[in-house]
Amino acid sequence: MKLIKKFITLTLLLATIIPAIGGLETAHAAEDKKLKIVASYSIIADMVRNIVGEHGEVYSLVPIGTDPHSYEPLPGDAQEVSEADLVFYNGFNLETGKGWFDDLLDVTDKKDVAFAVTEEVDPMFLTAEGKENEQDPHAWLDVQNGIKYVELITEKIIEADPEHEADYQENKEKYIISLEELDQYAKDKIAKIPEEQRILVTSEGAFKYFSKAYGFQAAYIWEINTDNQGTPDQMERILNIINEGDVKALFVETSINPKTMETVSHETGIPVKSKIFTDSLAKEGEEGDTYITMIKWNIDHIVNGILETNE
Ligand SMILES: [Zn+2]
Repeated sequence: MKLIKKFITLTLLLATIIPAIGGLETAHAAEDKKLKIVASYSIIADMVRNIVGEHGEVYSLVPIGTDPHSYEPLPGDAQEVSEADLVFYNGFNLETGKGWFDDLLDVTDKKDVAFAVTEEVDPMFLTAEGKENEQDPHAWLDVQNGIKYVELITEKIIEADPEHEADYQENKEKYIISLEELDQYAKDKIAKIPEEQRILVTSEGAFKYFSKAYGFQAAYIWEINTDNQGTPDQMERILNIINEGDVKALFVETSINPKTMETVSHETGIPVKSKIFTDSLAKEGEEGDTYITMIKWNIDHIVNGILETNE
């Protein structure tokens, strides 16, 4: 049954692509060619926009506020991928739920121009029994890894469009200066929290890389969004951690149903201090709608949220 459903979905996606391919060449020849770049989710899309600037158009597959671990591509998504000069995705086990991203590359035949932005990042691994060989995807929450993403993105864009190399290099240098400042800002601000209070409780265990980089202990209800969410075992485990530790604030991610964290708050009497961003940017026009402002939001709200409880 599952296979049949998959086949029907793929057939539907293909049916929308084939007519699109016919018109492709004339459309490209008609205008001054801009790079067409697809990113799997909003955070990578923002990094790509910072580098490609006016020389390209960027399309994000997973909409803002939605979970990239598991996503059902729309026919329009397949069309965007089929027309793309470059496709960027996170890799490290992020876009794996029901194989949605691999299926999309298969059906559009775009594997050759698809690149994982984590190529140069040292992976961390899941810790659950039996999953120790699976990579944890959330590397971008350490800004130094974000810089590695940006370097890889720039390299691939230059390979695809060497004519504008100077512009891409300049955009990269400016952007990386801002990212280095952001990384330092995070380190300085976090240093204000007493070490024993640096415990970050979220729904998903998305903060491994962040915690390692910025000196936190990460606690969570479930380890990765493709797990079952909020099972009795998970609830027992997180309630024990909270009861044993000096936890004063809970946080909930914007791309996750807040219900389970609200239950934890209710059971422990510890407040949910703020929403934070992990797998998605904020909506356009809102605070946190770029990679830089989402990280800054997280730092400010995590640090202030924990320090407020000391007052
Ligand atoms: Zn996640």
